[in-house]
Amino acid sequence: MTDIDFQQLSEKLSLPLPLFLQYALKKYPEYGKTAWYDFYLKNRARKTGTLLSLHLELTSKCNLNCKMCYVHSESIPESSQKELSEEQWLELMKQAVSEGIYSVTLSGGEAMLHPGFWPIYEYLHAHGVLVSVFTNGLCLTDTAIEHFVSLPPRLIQISLYGASEEGYTTVTGRPVFHQIDHTLQQLKKAGLPFQVAITPSIFLYPEIDSILQYVQERNYPYRINKTLFPPREETGRKHANICLSTQQMGEILKQLPAEGSSEPGQVHRISIPKTAPLSEIGVPCASGMTSAHIDCNGIMNGCIALPLVNADVCKLGLKELFRQFINAAWNFECPQNVQAARSILFVPPVPENIF
Ligand code: SF4
Repeated sequence: MTDIDFQQLSEKLSLPLPLFLQYALKKYPEYGKTAWYDFYLKNRARKTGTLLSLHLELTSKCNLNCKMCYVHSESIPESSQKELSEEQWLELMKQAVSEGIYSVTLSGGEAMLHPGFWPIYEYLHAHGVLVSVFTNGLCLTDTAIEHFVSLPPRLIQISLYGASEEGYTTVTGRPVFHQIDHTLQQLKKAGLPFQVAITPSIFLYPEIDSILQYVQERNYPYRINKTLFPPREETGRKHANICLSTQQMGEILKQLPAEGSSEPGQVHRISIPKTAPLSEIGVPCASGMTSAHIDCNGIMNGCIALPLVNADVCKLGLKELFRQFINAAWNFECPQNVQAARSILFVPPVPENIF
């Protein structure tokens, strides 16, 4: 593959989109139109300080109880969880739409358990926002799937925690593999855009080979999350007690088809290398630059792992808070070991106190 001249590309970002695409596709055709479109959109937004995407943790409640979950734990009393209501989320989404938001991910906990899930989804869909849903799949009934068919999402991502009832019970506390297996078949039959997310932890590790075999045999698109989010204090969990070692993670990643290969199943689009970012200053990824995360209590952050400003979005408003984020993000000094880690395939578990 041709080495990318990022300096030259940066200069070309001032071109209108069709001219930029013409340039990039002629010079680096192997990455394809979608990848360059994505690149243009994200980097233009970064340059202009535009909020492009939001990740919403609608609720911390869940109908599973995973041992490595960073947000949900049955030991947290429900009375202590004061979460945003449907009306509050809709008000925030109105602000996001008027800011020209491009995409929103509805997540949790289990996003579909929030009583306002469908009104929020429908509102965003009606306003042309691309909506992705991250779910454990248990609420994806036939009726829910039909509803998604009539209002198609950008993506439904289902977390897969095992390839047997025993594996599911070990990780999530419930033997629901048969149900998830059925749901995945229904999603495929319905032609909805979906992918399976596999998040290795010490609890899932014994079944990882069977899980990979399961998705590969069925030709389900899948991704492997390469790191676990540090659990929130109230869950009582410790990051170091749930992560795999670098060696174990490396063994899993070695089993994957190479990026760009034609192996079935694996999400194998060719991505533009991230080893030479356009900007060497500020937050090197989208967190706080073009995207933000809002938790179930309305606290906004760059992403789950990057507490850039950490303030209440309902009080300050989305526009004002995002302005503060951009300032914080450009003044952020990225730790050198994180910069270095971006050039290797696997980022080892980031220590909880790094930021
Ligand atoms: S399904 Fe997701 S949100 Fe629910 S307990 Fe498991 S990891 Fe947490």
